[in-house]
Amino acid sequence: MPTDCLFREDSYLKSCEARVVATTEQGGIVLDRTIFYATSGGQPGDAGELTTENGTRIPIETAIYTDAAKSEIAHVPASKSATVKIGDRVTAAIDWDKRYARMRMHTALHLLSAALPYAVTGGSVGDSESRLDFDIPEAGLDKDAITAKVAEMIASNAQVTSRWITDAELEANPGLVKTMSVKPPMGTGRVRLIEIAGLDLQPCGGTHVRSTGEIGGVRVTQIEKKGKQNRRVRLALA
Ligand SMILES: [Zn+2]
Repeated sequence: MPTDCLFREDSYLKSCEARVVATTEQGGIVLDRTIFYATSGGQPGDAGELTTENGTRIPIETAIYTDAAKSEIAHVPASKSATVKIGDRVTAAIDWDKRYARMRMHTALHLLSAALPYAVTGGSVGDSESRLDFDIPEAGLDKDAITAKVAEMIASNAQVTSRWITDAELEANPGLVKTMSVKPPMGTGRVRLIEIAGLDLQPCGGTHVRSTGEIGGVRVTQIEKKGKQNRRVRLALA
């Protein structure tokens, strides 16, 4: 049963009321709706907790999709002893500090991809550091110059907005897809576009801040050569 993914419409929701609709063989808890982002697109799933009506708290380690179509989310309890029944009402709350740092990091990666206009071959959002891999044949990238470029985009406090387009519209505009290794999820008929006003536009299912000013200070910490055609650029929140 598809989970209503509230984080897609509002990434600032910290908690929600929900109902248990299923449990998985691995002990995951499926809710009818959730604010937990599930691991995908290089961004880790949220940690947090579920609280049952009788006050039992169930720490959640992460959230994952149970299906290839990414329609259903399972909340993975930290302990196997967690017990809930189908139909139970719970309050779901995420570890907001951790998530907000990831939102800042993730949005900063969009700016990095705008600062370096090359094809992206991979990437990940980490808690202390994030990275993007670029298809760039020659070296010559300068950490300080890229940091300065990204800092300028952050200082411009550009608005970050999302909208949906149809699969057909995306197919008609293949230039929108920067990340070759992570194709946007298609087949459901619609694709989510993230626009950073005047700076970046690409399909993305992740969580972002509302304006680039919220990212705060970031710096490029390392540029590594990963094969002939690949440069890995690491970024950290200052
Ligand atoms: Zn994104």
